[in-house]
Amino acid sequence: MQELKKVDPEIAAIIAEEEQRQAHNIELIASENFVSPAVMEAAGSVLTNKYAEGYPDKRYYGGCEVIDQAEKLAIQRAREIYQAEHVNVQPHSGSQANQAVYFSQVSEGGTILGMDLTHGGHLSHGSPVNISGKYYNFVHYGVTREKEIIDYEQVRRLAEEHQPELIVAGASAYPRVINFKTFKEIADSVGALLMVDMAHIAGLVAAGLHPSPVPYADFVTTTTHKTLRGTRGGMILCKQKYAKAIDKAIFPGIQGGPLMHIVAAKAVTFKEALTPDFKKYQKQIINNARSLANALSSYGLRLVSGGTDNHMMLVDLTNMNLTGKEVEEALDKVGITVNKNTIPFETRSPFVTSGIRIGTPAVTTRGMKENDMEQIAKFIFAVLKNIEAEQKLAQLKEEVYAFSERFVK
Ligand code: PLP
Repeated sequence: MQELKKVDPEIAAIIAEEEQRQAHNIELIASENFVSPAVMEAAGSVLTNKYAEGYPDKRYYGGCEVIDQAEKLAIQRAREIYQAEHVNVQPHSGSQANQAVYFSQVSEGGTILGMDLTHGGHLSHGSPVNISGKYYNFVHYGVTREKEIIDYEQVRRLAEEHQPELIVAGASAYPRVINFKTFKEIADSVGALLMVDMAHIAGLVAAGLHPSPVPYADFVTTTTHKTLRGTRGGMILCKQKYAKAIDKAIFPGIQGGPLMHIVAAKAVTFKEALTPDFKKYQKQIINNARSLANALSSYGLRLVSGGTDNHMMLVDLTNMNLTGKEVEEALDKVGITVNKNTIPFETRSPFVTSGIRIGTPAVTTRGMKENDMEQIAKFIFAVLKNIEAEQKLAQLKEEVYAFSERFVK
């Protein structure tokens, strides 16, 4: 960062400080991860200089013969990982991938059935504050009260009642396996298309550790930066018959030129995802999540749905008389990063919440194993018990730092 230090010492100092924060905190945000140095190099490369509106061999700019190869490699590798008929690697983010599917497939103001935000869905699945909720008529399903798993009967009932053009499966805060086959049967029964947003579980699916939505869904959208452990970005997989419409929806529909440095970094991400080591890594994410969930439960904490099948869990803090907001802040004080999260049938505002969401992808990347999860659960419980004891929190901060230091590469 020699040049950066000279040109902009303020930003250089911020980056250095953030590097330290990331190295020393215990990172438990379920949607975050650490990319490899190879992905980082591609993302920080000269490819950022190139305009490439259009698609490989069909660009609106000259000089694209080199970067075309990067996009072709990204597409080829993503197709191989997911056995997809068609792939678009240009979406700048997961939200834009979703928007492109809606834009290309749903009539203006048309009806879409998706998961409720407070039950685990994402903002881009029809929240009233998101463009999806403003431009389309979203209807929402949720989880059952008893088991807190997706209420497939409700999905069926709402589909029959509202006759949506599109059904959206996939979530941001759902710790259980999603049954894509059932979603497809419901979609077919009402003549709706099916989109699966697998952003959170893309890495698990790539490794064969969560059933793939690809055989069932007309469209699969994702981010590339969560369990997939790649650069920040989005992607769409679809059946060949929708290829043209999806490509047109991304460019020129909702985006301009692709970020070619990011497309190249996606190609590197996919190359890594095709290695045997990646599969081992994904398995460890799941093992770590189970271990952390068991340890937290053993302290009497209630987990939504009773546990986890994937990389994340939701802790309901109601029986501790604490809110997600206070716990997120207290954990921050000791160097443990989580996010407050609504829980199903939430009674508090999204700024306060009754829960926290915890995920293991990032700590697994740092090399932590099951026994380390037990230690992390111990830290978390100690913070909950001492939420107002500043001195004790200061001591815990030192302990967390010493623990975390062991995993600094
Ligand atoms: N879809 C799901 C299920 C997500 O969890 C997220 C982000 O957390 C997104 C889409 C949006 O991705 P992005 O932040 O890249 O727009």
